[in-house]
Amino acid sequence: LNQFIDIATQKIRAKRMAYFGKHPDVYTKIYAYTRPNVLKALGYYPYYPKIEKANATQVTIDGKQKIMLGSNNYLGLTNHPKVIEAGVKALREYGSGLTGSRLLNGNTLLHDQLEEQLADFVHMESALVFSTGFGTNFGTITTICGPDDLIFSDEYNHASIVDGIRFSGARKCKYKHNDMQDLEEKLAFSDPKYPRFIVTDGIFSMDGDIARLDDLVALSKKYPSRLMVDDAHSFGILGPRGDGTAAHFDVTKDVDLIMGTFSKSLGCIGGFISGEKLVIEYLKHHSRTMLFTASLPPSNVASVMAALRIIQAEPERREQLIDHARFIRDGLKSLGFDIGESVTPIIPIIIGKDLKTFQVWKDLMDAGVYTNPIVSPAVPRGRALLRTSYMATHTRKQLEFCLDMFEKTGRKARIIR
Ligand code: PMP
Repeated sequence: LNQFIDIATQKIRAKRMAYFGKHPDVYTKIYAYTRPNVLKALGYYPYYPKIEKANATQVTIDGKQKIMLGSNNYLGLTNHPKVIEAGVKALREYGSGLTGSRLLNGNTLLHDQLEEQLADFVHMESALVFSTGFGTNFGTITTICGPDDLIFSDEYNHASIVDGIRFSGARKCKYKHNDMQDLEEKLAFSDPKYPRFIVTDGIFSMDGDIARLDDLVALSKKYPSRLMVDDAHSFGILGPRGDGTAAHFDVTKDVDLIMGTFSKSLGCIGGFISGEKLVIEYLKHHSRTMLFTASLPPSNVASVMAALRIIQAEPERREQLIDHARFIRDGLKSLGFDIGESVTPIIPIIIGKDLKTFQVWKDLMDAGVYTNPIVSPAVPRGRALLRTSYMATHTRKQLEFCLDMFEKTGRKARIIR
């Protein structure tokens, strides 16, 4: 109770300060912000977990082991001996970092080699490596598009795309999630004298459904537009060789830009954009998230290269992952959970209300299952969900245990009967 009184007092004090203050203050919203404290007082604060130890499928928090269903380490490569070995070797050879932009002092042979390998892997002419996936989307869109352009963007696209569009100054046209009819109406209505750009996630990060890239290609031809796909969650997962969404639909030659991150199936950090050589060259010399930030440490680049080799050499990892995801989807569906349109290793459990979602999250955590509660603005208000995601390296026994816990907590919360 005392905690709630403190929170209420904080709000009143902030309002009073705003009212009686001599000047408007940019800090007013900060002083009035109480959401994390409310969650802490309720015992439902899920953020900034204090992970003490992590191997791919299990983490230790507060001395207790949890099965990790909350990471993007889809192929379980973060702890692969070859990925670690490659990183350690480069760490010894190059040191801990390059302390500068790739343009000036921060480029190595490794960065260039990785770019060649990535372009080759996704069947594009050329690729460019950025220090984060967020910076890749942001830096690509803000460089390629400007105030005279029209950008058509799926309403569920990632924040890095949304912010890139906003900062580019282009006119934005948001279409309903994966709704080709809505997009076509908007394209048909648009003034053809403005250059058009369509952008979509490949696998949608919260819902685990796949963009209808074949239809998007058709529309981009009917209403001439450039087309970009964000393969953050599809790289290493979709496609006959893990080569992404365009390969999955066999439309690579009709997609202009393929983006990927190193922070998911590749188990590291960083991102890349790939496409026509001239476009990549232009981005290399104009994109501000490329020019004005320090380059990836060579150890990280070397680990990414090792992970990419494993993806190519061990397709059975991808097959195992697909099999695990199918097992969980079937299990959740037969228990009566709403898992939306997921067809990938990202499987949401849609709950609806924020508070109930936090309650179920907490019960699962106490039972030894780590999931991520997702509320607005990451998903629309009233559509709160638990995001669960799976790894090739989970064991069937771990997954069976998780399904048991989903059933117990789901019944307790009356999400299922
Ligand atoms: N695009 C999508 C679809 C993502 O889900 C993410 C990360 N969650 C990013 C881009 C940004 O990537 P990174 O975290 O590697 O910066």
